[in-house]
Amino acid sequence: MSSPAGQVRRVRHYTAGRFHAEGDVFPLVAPVDGRTVGLVPEADAATVDAAVRSARAALSGPWAAYSPADRSRALHRIADGIEARFEEFVTAECSDTGKPRELAAAVDIPRGVANFRAYADLSASRGERSWHTGTPDGRGALNYTVHKPLGVVAVVAPWNLPLLLLTWKVAPALATGNTVVAKPSELTPSTAELLAEVIDAAGLPAGVFNLVHGHGADAAGAWLTAHPGVDAIAFTGESRTGSAIMRAAADHLTPVSFELGGKNAGLVFADADLERAVEGTLRSAFTNSGQVCLCTERVYVERPVFAEFAAALAEGAGSVTYGPMVSAEHRDKVAGYLARAAADGTVLAGGDAPVFGDDRDGGFWVRPTVLAGLPEDHPAVREEIFGPVVHLAPFDTEEEALALANAGPYGLAATVWTGDLSRAHRVAPRLDVGIAWVNTWNLRDLRTPFGGVKASGIGREGGHHSLDFFSEPMNVCVKI
Ligand code: NAD
Repeated sequence: MSSPAGQVRRVRHYTAGRFHAEGDVFPLVAPVDGRTVGLVPEADAATVDAAVRSARAALSGPWAAYSPADRSRALHRIADGIEARFEEFVTAECSDTGKPRELAAAVDIPRGVANFRAYADLSASRGERSWHTGTPDGRGALNYTVHKPLGVVAVVAPWNLPLLLLTWKVAPALATGNTVVAKPSELTPSTAELLAEVIDAAGLPAGVFNLVHGHGADAAGAWLTAHPGVDAIAFTGESRTGSAIMRAAADHLTPVSFELGGKNAGLVFADADLERAVEGTLRSAFTNSGQVCLCTERVYVERPVFAEFAAALAEGAGSVTYGPMVSAEHRDKVAGYLARAAADGTVLAGGDAPVFGDDRDGGFWVRPTVLAGLPEDHPAVREEIFGPVVHLAPFDTEEEALALANAGPYGLAATVWTGDLSRAHRVAPRLDVGIAWVNTWNLRDLRTPFGGVKASGIGREGGHHSLDFFSEPMNVCVKI
């Protein structure tokens, strides 16, 4: 997929084991400096249909004869293939997203590898449950559960962690014997194309993995998720996109697994190790320029340490390594929130775009920003910004802190910073979220349940939760 410097490259679909670039094209823009670096094909309805048909046909091809151990080995080969082309993956991810190289090399691409390895191992060691049932004749019956693939899985992914979030669904879907049609974000198609090359080279039968590019609404994403040939939809993205997909899925009763938006809260108690809380909040607010669904956008600080915490966070925000927003449109959205926040509250750090005096001034940059003094019903405090923006507010009691954190429509993740062990265990389970971190942030074990409550998601991914979603349990009852 590489092309010489300065040339615009053509991104390709991958269907039925073949790379091609049919259809109209749209520009692929580098967020660092706003240059067009590629052309992406826009899959039309016929291309999406062909991809789904290819995935359907592959279900009854050689893939059907793969044992769980065969599939596990195939997944390890894919992981090996990503590792072998590690630098290409890092370069492509950084070009599409603008994220710092260190981040892609430390998180995005290694997690892509880890996702395949984790599900290769988990699925290979997955047992079946059985129950002995008493019967009146005393001879009994044996019930056992067989896990079958669902069939054709549509995977629709966002732009913030492109390879990581795509493979987080593709790996368990393949591990459980499904075939896949994937649609990455229109903004970040490159590592998905590389992944298709790796899967192709790993020798998976044609049609087991298919990739189509294009936009979401009234385009490839919508056609894929409304397609009657799709047996399940795994989606990560905005909550309102989730609603649109759910409406489309309703027509065919297609099961969905949704990882959606958040407006994550952090709670800093006066008994916390403040230095650690500041360092952790800088990471949780500004990693990937705040463009991680798990990022903290609201921090509530116990009043006696509020001023000290706010000063330290504002100072730290000035020395964070960061990249741009993913697009001009997203930069404008974030800048809109900042303008309203500046008018209605206090900007303690950032709040504007950096000036570099070089090509990067054509990119989509926003400085890490710390806000304070806004009311709880302000859009910058209530709505997901998905940028490098955090708002600080004081609290006086534990109950008040919990009420503030639990307010609002979302419920993805939260952080609690405290030195009191009892408080940690008392507060964390009372948070209305799917994931709570105490004295850390984004420390992940891929076997644990991952997902959100309220408008932040439907279902859980991770470990056996993903294996369960992507397979159909069937009971066999044998009379003895
Ligand atoms: P998005 O919803 O705009 O797009 C996500 C994907 O859905 C893209 O591939 C897009 O083309 C497609 N899409 C858009 N409209 C569609 C439609 N009507 N039908 C079918 N497909 C459609 O989200 P985004 O801007 O790419 O990503 C940012 C959002 O994702 C944020 O809200 C963030 O919180 C969320 N997110 C959540 C998690 C999580 O695990 N909960 C992880 C990462 C990002």
